[in-house]
Amino acid sequence: MAQDITADKTREKAAVLARQGVVGLTVAWADNNGITRSRTVPIEQLEAAAERGVGVTTLFAVFDTHDGITFGHAGLSTPSGDVRLVPVVDRIVRLAGQPEFAWAPGRQIAADGSPWPYDQRSALERQVARAAERGLAFRAGYELEFHLSLAEPRGDGGTALALEGPAYGPRALLEVDGFAARLLRDLRDNGVEIGQLHAEYGPAQFELSLAAADPVTAADRQLLARQTIHAAARAHGLRASFSPLVSAAGVGNGWHLHTSVSRDGVNLLSGGDGPHGLTPEGAAYLAGILRDLPAVTAITAPSIPSLHRLRPGYFSSAYAFWGVENREAALRFVPATGLLGAAHANVELKPSDASANPYLALAAVIAAGLAGIADGLTPPAPVQENPGAWTEEEREKEGIRLLPTTPEERQAALVGSETLREALGADLLGAFAAVREADRAWAEGKELDEVLAAHLWRY
Ligand code: GLU
Ligand code: MG
Repeated sequence: MAQDITADKTREKAAVLARQGVVGLTVAWADNNGITRSRTVPIEQLEAAAERGVGVTTLFAVFDTHDGITFGHAGLSTPSGDVRLVPVVDRIVRLAGQPEFAWAPGRQIAADGSPWPYDQRSALERQVARAAERGLAFRAGYELEFHLSLAEPRGDGGTALALEGPAYGPRALLEVDGFAARLLRDLRDNGVEIGQLHAEYGPAQFELSLAAADPVTAADRQLLARQTIHAAARAHGLRASFSPLVSAAGVGNGWHLHTSVSRDGVNLLSGGDGPHGLTPEGAAYLAGILRDLPAVTAITAPSIPSLHRLRPGYFSSAYAFWGVENREAALRFVPATGLLGAAHANVELKPSDASANPYLALAAVIAAGLAGIADGLTPPAPVQENPGAWTEEEREKEGIRLLPTTPEERQAALVGSETLREALGADLLGAFAAVREADRAWAEGKELDEVLAAHLWRY
């Protein structure tokens, strides 16, 4: 069984956790809707679970956002079959906010121990390994935006937080003082390093940024951060929504994805002779993501609310272009500066949200970027304005197109990208596409408000 630590160490770990009063290990993974699913095993069974995994249905690959199971994918069209969910033992943490539980990300493998083609974490591991063969490595970090509301309705039936004060103001944070303090403490104790926490633009909207890490660690931590935020909110009578759009008129919750690419420890997005310090390979990385942006977005912003979140004027991106520090750009290039150093340079993907599987999202970005490097692409000139404010003719002249605005356009972009087809593999792509179709059919004919309400508590 592929664990990075020995059976002895696993036994030791289980004993320490049991002595600390931990009774269960929750093994979590994200499905094709970005929804976290889990199994909890008694802590005494950690060693067995680490060795052989626990049984889960093969059909999790074809669960849709509403817990429906679609049989529309030929590879998983019957209710028969079982795979093993294996906790990644060296990632186990005792949950600060739920001290009687430990947590680990899970990998899915086939019942005979062979790779399971629908395992999203493995898809990311494959891209990281491909890159390593070419001498390339990545750093990745998520920014998580979320809305908080009261868990219990007030006397008037409302659940909106009574927040006072301007956007980004400390007054808004003061209203959730206990939650904020607990969250900082629990994230630290769970080993989830963050850059900052703040009240965001929207009423009752907050954001925290996860520190950059290698891609698989970044995705694991994104899942752990979700668990940590939900637990801290619950402890303070609050409820967190990570939904891409909580109300039709309000601002969305972006989970912007920052990445950088390096060779021999040197960030290729800085120190070069190209524009804004880009090296030729760094520029090609950015150009590769830009070339495949509609297909990448099909994976990084895949839900129905995702489509409605992407609007001009909301800093969420709507058009496929890049800019330097341009907050309307789908790809915002953040250059290195004398003060912040080379490691600071990164590419921020704005059309990215909590309905994306974080492993698949990173696999898609890396695959597109690697293809750009392999093809030696050069990006067009950056756009520093908001093309949403231009006329149709101006956009046409600059070659700036909308990101997909319908499930059909998104799907066509995804299957049209050889790079992303390869990155996912035919099985995983087939299941992913079937789930998107199930979500589309579910939403058909429904009012937007009803659709948004059904997504509020899914992530
Ligand atoms: N809330 C915006 C979004 O939907 C992002 C705002 C910001 O730039 O932080 O992505
Ligand atoms: Mg933000």
